[in-house]
Amino acid sequence: MRQIPSSILQDLHGIKGFNEQAFLEAHDQPAPVSVRVNGAKDIGLFATEEKVPWCEGGVYLPERPVFTLDPAYHAGAYYVQEASSMFLDHLLRHVIQGRTGLRVLDLCAAPGGKSTLIASLLDKDSLLISNEVIRTRASILEENMTRWGYMNTWVTSNDPRDFTKLTGYFDVIVVDAPCSGSGLWRKDARAIDEWSEANVQMCGDRQQRILADVWPALKEDGILVYATCSYSPKEDEEVLDWLAETYDATSCTVPLKEEWGIAEVQSGKGMTGYRFFPGNVKGEGFFIAAVQKKEEADEMRMGRFKTFNDRKMQEMAGFLLRDNDFVCIQGKEDFSALLPAHEGDLNILKQCVYLRRTGLPMGNPSAKDWLPSHDVALSIDKNERLPAIELSREQALLYLKREDMGIEGAQKGWLLVKYNGLGLGWVKSLGNRMNNYLPKHWRIRMELPE
Ligand code: SAM
Repeated sequence: MRQIPSSILQDLHGIKGFNEQAFLEAHDQPAPVSVRVNGAKDIGLFATEEKVPWCEGGVYLPERPVFTLDPAYHAGAYYVQEASSMFLDHLLRHVIQGRTGLRVLDLCAAPGGKSTLIASLLDKDSLLISNEVIRTRASILEENMTRWGYMNTWVTSNDPRDFTKLTGYFDVIVVDAPCSGSGLWRKDARAIDEWSEANVQMCGDRQQRILADVWPALKEDGILVYATCSYSPKEDEEVLDWLAETYDATSCTVPLKEEWGIAEVQSGKGMTGYRFFPGNVKGEGFFIAAVQKKEEADEMRMGRFKTFNDRKMQEMAGFLLRDNDFVCIQGKEDFSALLPAHEGDLNILKQCVYLRRTGLPMGNPSAKDWLPSHDVALSIDKNERLPAIELSREQALLYLKREDMGIEGAQKGWLLVKYNGLGLGWVKSLGNRMNNYLPKHWRIRMELPE
């Protein structure tokens, strides 16, 4: 392990839970491997592994498998996520308290760890806006959210300032802020060489700007969750202090178990945060806090809007989904299904932000048949009685490489490709051969083992 900068160790002295020796020793150990199971696609994977105690579905794996070679990973059965950051599950369950019909913004969402977690704990009537400002990263986010399979998760690609106009619209905003990244040094030791105090300062300033941009979009009594993977107080407690000085906000606290090793810390202005130090916790460096907005916030009105529902398309597309409680809207290239409760949200959001993925893309009806979207194959709302073909692991990997699976004699027409009962994509069977409809950019590029 490279030398940890002495200035960061100095900054941490006196912070509750920081034990320099345990911290340095932990940096000579490998980071634990953990995944979070998708409860809506649970096929009993990892059932006997050690649980991450603060997250439903979170488990530690004894070693790191080659996830790319597991078709269940491609089907969205689980997400590979660092264990400390899964604490968002425990925190959100406490602050939401089973409330339904929430509007939630995950502002800095790529590649999708927090968004997949949030999607799993919201009810169907809630709406999650998963946003990523950097376009290339937004496409990775979109791919991961498609795998996860939720119709009520929409993907946007906007600068935080574009959300300012949505006054009082969100019940919860999660800001997993871009940061100096010291908490992930165990996973990438080279990042130690790139770390500098000047960068920490720059990140702290940017974090304040980002929070200032989205604060107006939070409802009165709404919850702002702020997180970083930095150890620096400038990016953690000092940002909470800035929030407390600038706005009317109170801290939310959640119960902890001592054996988790998580430290509840107080900022200079008495705001509460939670710190994760390797050596104390089985996970990486992480900081998280939740505050409640105590200011009046004018809520955006839904206003009157013309329904977008295309009933003809809804009837035509009905066979693709399990239930009929969706509306069908025409997008730029194809149709999307969304819940009727979210039609008004579409009306508001499309005026302010760039919607990359609205509801569930369904594909295109053609004169002869329906060209189904890849998203339907991965959706948790699809009709489970669609014509399908179950593949072995070897066949599934060939499918994911877009190579010939050597299957003959299958029934003709569109077939949903399944692995362990989970949708992977589509093929069109012509009887003697099959056309593979896995999107080209989803293809596995690595060589398959012999
Ligand atoms: N929440 C993600 C997850 O759990 O997978 C990780 C988010 S990462 C810590 C921070 C994200 O913020 C990155 O995807 C980065 O591209 C994005 N970002 C960078 N600059 C930003 C800015 N000025 N405003 C908002 N987001 C930004």
